Amino acid sequence: MFPSSSHRVTYSPAYTIVPTYECFNRCTYCNFRREPGKSPWMSLAGAERILRQLQNQNICEILILSGEVHPHSSRREAWFQRIYDLCALALTMGFLPHTNVGPLSFAEMEKLKRVNVSMGLMLEQLTPTLLNTVHRYAPSKLPQVRMQQLKWAGELQIPFTTGLLLGIGESLDDCWETLTAISNVHLRYGHIQEVILQPHSPGNQQSFDAPPFDPYQLPEVIAQARQILPADITIQIPPNLVQDAGWLLACLAAGARDLGGIGPKDEVNPDYPHIQEQALRDILQSGGWELVPRLPLYPQFDEWLGDELTASVRMWRQ
Ligand code: SF4
Repeated sequence: MFPSSSHRVTYSPAYTIVPTYECFNRCTYCNFRREPGKSPWMSLAGAERILRQLQNQNICEILILSGEVHPHSSRREAWFQRIYDLCALALTMGFLPHTNVGPLSFAEMEKLKRVNVSMGLMLEQLTPTLLNTVHRYAPSKLPQVRMQQLKWAGELQIPFTTGLLLGIGESLDDCWETLTAISNVHLRYGHIQEVILQPHSPGNQQSFDAPPFDPYQLPEVIAQARQILPADITIQIPPNLVQDAGWLLACLAAGARDLGGIGPKDEVNPDYPHIQEQALRDILQSGGWELVPRLPLYPQFDEWLGDELTASVRMWRQ
């Protein structure tokens, strides 16, 4: 029997372009960053070579994921321009860009909206206690800075993805507080398309010495998130971080309905390769779920796009 739409789970066929791994923050759980100046920036020619190989492979989303150059650095403008140019390039080559490069100024966000169908920033956790621990040397992780980003995205009508990082020293009450804040900003602007619940999964590079977030606790968090978040926000979980098939199905039963961007490499969790698409499809099917591709923009937001982006999206919606 063909699963009904209520038994559909989405994912975005995606490829991640990293403009640079350098980052001025030092989150202790990070498995991505390199020291400022120690990670050559992705050239446009290099990106074009990669993108050309991806054409006609049914990859729709180009996730532009970058480490951060300090807002007051003399290199900030060039960093931002490179990100903008990479998005514009991906767009002209027929892909749909989604950018997640840390906190932006209002003007930067407004500019990037022109070349992105959606954007993202993890809220992670709002509790200020993490500023004394995992975020002690991460000025970008000030909760009020990240909350401001969600508000600006709403004001600018940018379809937005955010989420929580679980297991970095927060309590369950902290999670509910963070989810409530996301819910409130969405009730005001209506722009949050999905919330990622990302379990901390230790990698080789990090200095944060803590066990992984208990994957068996994830269904409980998802069920509570489903209660807190408005129904039009989709809950996303990264399947490569929930490696037990039974618990992946339990996460879906609890209310998760999206598996995020799936591509050759999870740049944020490089020690956890993605499950092959067919294997994932088989796991889901065993639980009565159908895996279906989606665009990085949910249909209810199509009308927020400018003319050029609308034309690009229309090509994919046909
Ligand atoms: S988690 Fe993000 S902000 Fe923190 S150090 Fe890594 S790249 Fe930078």
